Amino acid sequence: MKPVYTAGMRRRNLLRAGLSAPLAGTALSGCVTPDAQRFQGAHRRMVLRDDPDYERWRQGMAWQTFKHDRYPDVIARPRTALEVADAVSYARRNRLPVVARSGGHNVSGAFFRDGGMLLDLGALQGVEVDARAGTAWVEPALWSRNLARVLQPQGFAFPYAHCGTVPMGGYLLGGGVGLNGDSWGGIACANILEAEVVLASGELVRVNAEQHPDLYWAVRGAGTGFPGVVTRYRLKLHTAPNVILSSAYVFPLPAAADAARWMERERRAAPQDTELMMLMAHTPQGPIAIARFVAFTADQVGAEQLLARYAQAPEAQKALVRMERVPTNFERWFSESVDASRGLGFGSYGVETIWTDRLAESIDAVASAFAEAPSTMSHILVSPRIHTATPNQAAFSMYGEAFVGVYSVWADDAHSANFAWLEQCAELLAPFAKGRYVNETDGFTARERVRSAFSEDAWARLAAVRAQEDRQGVFHGFPGWG
Ligand SMILES: Cc1cc2nc3c(=O)[nH]c(=O)nc-3n(C[C@H](O)[C@H](O)[C@H](O)COP(=O)(O)OP(=O)(O)OC[C@H]3O[C@@H](n4cnc5c(N)ncnc54)[C@H](O)[C@@H]3O)c2cc1C
Repeated sequence: MKPVYTAGMRRRNLLRAGLSAPLAGTALSGCVTPDAQRFQGAHRRMVLRDDPDYERWRQGMAWQTFKHDRYPDVIARPRTALEVADAVSYARRNRLPVVARSGGHNVSGAFFRDGGMLLDLGALQGVEVDARAGTAWVEPALWSRNLARVLQPQGFAFPYAHCGTVPMGGYLLGGGVGLNGDSWGGIACANILEAEVVLASGELVRVNAEQHPDLYWAVRGAGTGFPGVVTRYRLKLHTAPNVILSSAYVFPLPAAADAARWMERERRAAPQDTELMMLMAHTPQGPIAIARFVAFTADQVGAEQLLARYAQAPEAQKALVRMERVPTNFERWFSESVDASRGLGFGSYGVETIWTDRLAESIDAVASAFAEAPSTMSHILVSPRIHTATPNQAAFSMYGEAFVGVYSVWADDAHSANFAWLEQCAELLAPFAKGRYVNETDGFTARERVRSAFSEDAWARLAAVRAQEDRQGVFHGFPGWG
C-alpha cells in the first residue's frame, strides 16, 4: 500500500517523473494539445474522444448493459493516487471538469457526463489491515467481496454492500446500506475514520475530524456531489461473525403488504445482529414477496435463538414456503450475488429508491404496478430496518425507518417501456417518501430527487463546502445540478 504523499513528496516524485513543469494548455476540442500528448505519454492510459478505442473504453465504464448517452472528452485511468493527482491537475489546466468512477455501479450513470474528464479509478483496489487498531485502508475500486476475503480470516467484518461486486468508492461516499449495517455502525459511511482525497488543486491530502473537517463531513455521504477524488478510506472494522444463518418466508404478492407489516412490527423488537430484508420478485408461478431474517452471530446457538422468534410468528404460519435456519457465509453470499443464473439476472438497469416511515403503505401502493412490470427480472428490495441515528459529522442526513428500492432490470432493447415502468413506480412511492438515497436515484431525470437525499442544513453546507473547495469548478456537480 502506498504511503501518504505530502505536497513536498508529490513535487519530488513529479520532478523525478519529469512532470513538474505545467505546459500551457487549452480546453480540448477534439484536437490533441501538447499537454495531452505529455500527459498521455506519461500514463499511456488516456483516450480522447476521437481515439478509435474511445467508445470501447466508455462502454466499459458502466457495470450494467445499458450505456447512458453522455460523452466525456477524455477518459483517464490512473494507477496510483499520485497519478490521480496528476490527472486532476491536467484537467484543471485544460478546463476539463472531472468526474470520478470507482466501479461503475451507479445505475443512473452519474459518471457519464458530457464533456470533461472521466477519471476511472478501477485500478485502485488495494487494502491494508491494521489488526491491532481494528482498522483498514481501502482503495475505491476494492469490491465488497474482496474486502470480505481479506477481513474474514483476520476476524474482522464490515457492512459490505449486499452484492459482491459493489466497490467501496461510490458506495461509501453516498452512505452505504450494508450487510448487518444496523449493528455495524448504522449507515456504512459512519465507519469512515479518515480518507485521502485529491483536491481541485491537484493536492493529495488526508481528511479527518482535525484536518479538513468540512471535507471529512462531506466524504461521509455527499455521494455524487463530493468536491474531490477519494483515493482511499480508513475504516473502522467490526468483529466477524462465526455463523450466518438465514430464515426466509415466501408469500404470494397480494400478501406483500402483510409481510411488510410483519417487518414493521419486528423492526422495533428485533435484536441486534439480525438483518431484516424483503424482496418482491417474479417467478414462473407468479409474483412473490419474500421476508428474510439473517442472523450474524458468534455461534450456532445464538443464531438459532435469534431466528426462533420469526418461526413462531403468525405470519410465518401463512407462508407458501419456509426456508429456515439456512447456513451461509460472506463468500457464498457474494458468489450468489454475482451469479446471474442463481440471482435475479443481469442486463440493463434503472433504479429509484425512497426512505420511508410508512413501509406497508408504500408496498401496498406499488404492488399492482409491480405485478405488471414489463420485465420479470425487475424486483423491489426493501431494508425494513434502518439505523436512524444520524452519524456524527456526516453529510449523510436523510433517511427513514425503512428503505424501498425499485430495480427495473431487462435483457432486451425495451428501454423506454422499462424506464417508463420505473417512473410509474417512483410516482406511486413518492407520497410515502421522506427522501431518496443519493446512490440510487436519477438526478438526470429529476434533479429534485438528488436534493431530497439531504436535509436542508446538509444541502446548504454542501453548497458552501463545494464553493470553498472547488472555486474553479474543477469537478462536475450533482447529476442534474451541474
Ligand atoms: C448490483 C448492485 C448492488 C448494489 N447494492 C447496494 C447495497 O447493498 N447497498 C448500497 O448502499 N448500495 C448498493 N448499490 C448502489 C451503490 O452503492 C451505488 O451504485 C454506488 O454508486 C456504487 O459505487 P461505485 O464505486 O461503483 O460508484 P461509481 O458508479 O463508480 O460512481 C458513482 C459516482 O460516485 C462518485 N464517485 C465514485 N467514486 C468516487 C471517488 N473515488 N471519489 C470521488 N467520487 C467518486 C462519482 O460522482 C461517480 O459519478 C448497489 C448497486 C448495484 C448496481
